[in-house]
Amino acid sequence: MDIVFHGAAGEVTGSCHLVEVAGKRVLLDCGMIQGESQGRPNRPQGEGKADERNAADFPFDPESVDVLVLSHAHIDHTGRVPLLVKRGFAGPIFTHPATIDLAAIMLADAANISAMDAERDNRHLQPGQKPSVPLYAQADVDAATRLMRPVAYGTPTEILPGVTLTLRDAGHILGSATVELDAAGEGATHILVFSGDLGPNGTPILCDPAPVPTADLVVMESTYGDRLHKSREDTVAELASIFAAAHRDGGNVVIPAFAVGRTQELLYFFAEHFDAWGLGAFRIFLDSPMAIRVTDAYDRHEDLFNAEAKKLWATRPQPLKLPNLVPTADGEASRRINGIHGHAVIIAGSGMCTGGRIRHHLRYNLANPAAHIVFVGYQASGTLGRIIVDGAKHVRLFGDDIPVRAQVHTVGGLSAHADQAGLSAWYGLIGGHPPVCLVHGEDPGRAKLADELKSKWGSEVTLPMPGTRVSV
Ligand SMILES: [Zn+2]
Repeated sequence: MDIVFHGAAGEVTGSCHLVEVAGKRVLLDCGMIQGESQGRPNRPQGEGKADERNAADFPFDPESVDVLVLSHAHIDHTGRVPLLVKRGFAGPIFTHPATIDLAAIMLADAANISAMDAERDNRHLQPGQKPSVPLYAQADVDAATRLMRPVAYGTPTEILPGVTLTLRDAGHILGSATVELDAAGEGATHILVFSGDLGPNGTPILCDPAPVPTADLVVMESTYGDRLHKSREDTVAELASIFAAAHRDGGNVVIPAFAVGRTQELLYFFAEHFDAWGLGAFRIFLDSPMAIRVTDAYDRHEDLFNAEAKKLWATRPQPLKLPNLVPTADGEASRRINGIHGHAVIIAGSGMCTGGRIRHHLRYNLANPAAHIVFVGYQASGTLGRIIVDGAKHVRLFGDDIPVRAQVHTVGGLSAHADQAGLSAWYGLIGGHPPVCLVHGEDPGRAKLADELKSKWGSEVTLPMPGTRVSV
């Protein structure tokens, strides 16, 4: 069994690894590259999505791939699946049932964004310039979801003759899984384990990552390979003090948040601390059609929650059913929020403020000294979110110059990824401490994690680059 790394090798997005086993090809993830806007001159800074790398040929023939396995629904792990299908892949796609649920929502959104981006690019087409075409359409998304086959956690499933797949809970988002491939042959069984993205222990709603008993090779994410997160208690205390200040000041609380994971975590904290934080005095707007659909999907999979969350769901107002929660799916309802100047909590995307409804809410709240803007996720350089976090006094929004007078907060500790200690502990439980390849991390973060694994567990560590081949 060999693995060749084609994406997220030396960077954090575009997860895509090809396993060659028993004369067949198993692709692990098929993600989109995110956060780059080069080559699209008509796009505002930080808004580029479907770039040249996503539209480029795959480094293998899609028709030659026999099976696809998806670790979880995040778009940097699934975003190019409809393109793979459009270009000839016709095999089964094995993944957790909750991932099938979420991927249908997220890939439809990606198709929609791609269509809107292409339309915008083509609006100012110069003579002789090639028009942009969407990466894929809803029909390609439908074709991809028809190929998806559900595999529950902890259920070994033969996906090719002599090749068995086992998914285990990765505790990262709903349905996220670590992937184990067991290949029998040549007198022995070879086991490859791919971590996917690993969540931190003690995260709200989800269970902790399930331990993996043994492996011959581990392919492991390293997003926060050089960092330690704040404790959950500190995060809760920080949010409590922000709501105390918001009561005092009377302005709105505006929270840019990713639709999957972070939004549900916030709603969970709101349910848990509803009285302590005086949330009854606010209207809580969930202003994102995708976040509403994803939150509904979380509600459908209560069986996957941790014990604490199951208890909360049974005894408190459920996060999606808070008495003052206002999900605003349509644009008109969203626009009405613009007229509210106090005692509203507004959760909207995109998480880094590069697009979406959050930009309207920033336009109407940034200049208000009584408003609080709360960043709960990583803000990549060049994004509007990062510009605000870095202390800009003015920003440009919809052609207007908006002064930043609102109070800006950055709340850590809500990451969906394990930190260095969490990654090292998960690996440390794998019997025999097998050789490990670190992916899904930027240098030097993954180099720091490599040092930690070598010194703590005596591991043999590879930092693969695109095209690197490793034998199991
Ligand atoms: Zn992820």
